[in-house]
Amino acid sequence: MTAAKIRLYVEHPLGAGQSVPLKRDQAHYLFGVMRLGIGAQVLLFNGQDGEWLADVSETGKRGGALRCNRQTRPLQLPPDLWLMFAPIKKARTDFIVEKAAEMGAGRICPVQTEFTNSERIRQDRLQAHAIEAAEQCGGTYVPEVAEMQKLDRVLSAWDTTRRIMFCDEALAGPSSALSGVLGTDGAPWAILIGPEGGFSTAERKRLAALPHAHAISLGPRILRADTAAVAAMTLWQQTLGDWR
Ligand code: SAH
Repeated sequence: MTAAKIRLYVEHPLGAGQSVPLKRDQAHYLFGVMRLGIGAQVLLFNGQDGEWLADVSETGKRGGALRCNRQTRPLQLPPDLWLMFAPIKKARTDFIVEKAAEMGAGRICPVQTEFTNSERIRQDRLQAHAIEAAEQCGGTYVPEVAEMQKLDRVLSAWDTTRRIMFCDEALAGPSSALSGVLGTDGAPWAILIGPEGGFSTAERKRLAALPHAHAISLGPRILRADTAAVAAMTLWQQTLGDWR
């Protein structure tokens, strides 16, 4: 392989001449699956030092090493946007995490609402999905996937300088008047998406009482939670984020 195509996220400092040891699964992927040899080029990022062109300096079945050459892109942080969502079925939850990383969420927060069906998530697996998505989409940053927390607790401990874009299916209708709600004062935001069962009356009441939460509609049709997450991130990115 001549042109560097493979992008790999590593948990290691990157810099000119820096040697980067490979973990077993990374070595398996690069040498076993992609059949790279000594001198082959790989792009590396670690969420802090931008993207670096590196070449293979050592191969092995269980490990190996790469050596950093030069920086190919600076670190590009996503906007300060969190995606909070109630986990749904496994494949759809995986989809939400993958899309959140691609769309530029800074942090992904699974929350347990009253009607959330799953009580547990595999946080490590979801984090791996976010890493893969960042590798694939050319991002230089990987959003953290937080442990699942009860929505109630999350709202009690909330830093009120961060606004909540509360996607409320009860408002489904033609007018979202979104730009009026979002404003442009640079405040950090979190999007909140409910589960298949939607939000309970108590949750809706609680959110309505929070001055930093703003209920919005995502149009006249009720979207599935995974569609709603992508639609909401699109609207936010278009209005306030790094798509402008
Ligand atoms: N079962 C619920 C729908 C849940 S849809 C019902 O029939 O009412 C899952 C989540 O997607 C919702 O909780 C909400 O956060 C979001 N969502 C879907 N469609 C929406 C819309 N038109 N407006 C605002 N939010 C929406």
